[in-house]
Amino acid sequence: MALIVQKFGGTSVGSIERIEQVAEKVQKFRENGDDIVVVVSAMSGETNRLIGLAKQISEQPVPRELDVMVSTGEQVTIALLAMALIKRGVPAVSYTGNQVRILTDSSFTKARIMQIDDQKLRADLKAGRVVVVAGFQGVDEHGNITTLGRGGSDTTGVALAAALKADECQIYTDVDGVYTTDPRVVPKAQRLDKITFEEMLEMASLGSKVLQIRSVEFAGKYNVPLRVLHSFQEGPGTLITTDEEESMEQPIISGIAFNRDEAKLTIRGVPDNPGVAFKILGPISAANIEVDMIVQNIAHDNTTDFTFTVHRNDYLSAMRVLENTAREIGAREVIGDTDIAKVSIVGVGMRSHAGVASRMFEALAKEGINIQMISTSEIKVSVVIEEKYLELAVRALHTAFELDAPARQGE
Ligand code: ADP
Ligand code: ASP
Ligand code: MG
Repeated sequence: MALIVQKFGGTSVGSIERIEQVAEKVQKFRENGDDIVVVVSAMSGETNRLIGLAKQISEQPVPRELDVMVSTGEQVTIALLAMALIKRGVPAVSYTGNQVRILTDSSFTKARIMQIDDQKLRADLKAGRVVVVAGFQGVDEHGNITTLGRGGSDTTGVALAAALKADECQIYTDVDGVYTTDPRVVPKAQRLDKITFEEMLEMASLGSKVLQIRSVEFAGKYNVPLRVLHSFQEGPGTLITTDEEESMEQPIISGIAFNRDEAKLTIRGVPDNPGVAFKILGPISAANIEVDMIVQNIAHDNTTDFTFTVHRNDYLSAMRVLENTAREIGAREVIGDTDIAKVSIVGVGMRSHAGVASRMFEALAKEGINIQMISTSEIKVSVVIEEKYLELAVRALHTAFELDAPARQGE
């Protein structure tokens, strides 16, 4: 008998019919004798709808109140799923984050889980009940409702699995596993049987939204066996693992991630003295704006151009800060661009292969795609390009690194 935590995402509980299907699936596991804790998201579109309501009141809603509101989406689905299970004769009980006591810090809209009280859950499981827990939400030490950031139900699932020392955490979604890249952008993308935590972490942090970054961090830290599966189709899904065996057959690149959420800012003609980077980025970080990629160029006249990227939501505030800095340090001008995208190739195979980056640049050059910025680490290479070339770039790289699925007959 196993203890399994199963998380169902928004589309998987997007209608009453789907919720009934999820209940049927959980019932089957239960009949197999497994203990089941289910984590659900809000019905698809609901979190966006709620955020939209808040934005009609204020462009920047008070984060505490936003959390009070967006957490309601998950409260609806836990109750509906519990009802559907009970209707089938499966004893079940639903809990909000507060009721379980998923304790988080107080960073509203992006809270981190600190501790989970598993007593109630264990008692319910012992009594033969399926426990249904609201994803995405917790409570801080003062009793305020918090949420864990978009996609946060994945993290609730993994954190519960870690707390309960579950045998497996299964993330059920609308694709049948983790693919070499988003299958909605590249139809020739292939499902991976396995991917390492390290690679999955890079993929998630570079824009693959199939798993929230923190859920992968948690799973790696607490060694939670994690699997991504299709909610309603049978199949092995993708296992996220720690082992890096099979080096002989290992592909150089495991996946391609992309991200349209960034914007680029450049400050031109900065007098090139020691401390320039700090003068430029210090005020940005003081304004609580996170910087991703950074490039500094030396010009001929002892001035430098300095470019960096931030989240698109922070673009306007970053621009204001940078214009101030430009005046103070006597820089020539500040320019910005929101029509950019970041494309990244990821793979532990890069460690043992040279020339991966140049192969990437060659593939982009062949398509006439200009690279604006580059950043590399041990297992990834990222480039910033014009947003309109994003899909072309991802497809070209997918082909260049031999990730395309073999054509089926008739294609
Ligand atoms: P859920 O609502 O179940 O949490 P998400 O929309 O958050 O589902 O995540 C699943 C989606 O992630 C897929 O529909 C797919 O379009 C997208 N995705 C992005 N990159 C990948 C990838 N490498 N492999 C699989 N899916 C991916
Ligand atoms: N409902 C939340 C969101 O849409 C959390 C989740 O689905 O994981 O981001
Ligand atoms: Mg998700």
